[in-house]
Amino acid sequence: MSADNRINILLACTECKRRNYSTCKNKKTTKGRLELKKYCPWDKKMTLHRETR
Ligand SMILES: [Zn+2]
Repeated sequence: MSADNRINILLACTECKRRNYSTCKNKKTTKGRLELKKYCPWDKKMTLHRETR
C-alpha cells in the first residue's frame, strides 16, 4: 500500500483569505489546485475555498 500519494493541504477562503479547513488529497488523482465551495464562518456564507500550503 502506498500512502505516499496523500498529502495534507489547507483550504483558504478566496474572499477573506482565512484558512478554514484542512484536508488531504491524493496528488496522483487530483490534478491542479483543489477548489471547493465551503461555508466560511467569517463571511457567514458559502465561498470558494482554494488549496494552499
Ligand atoms: Zn471567508
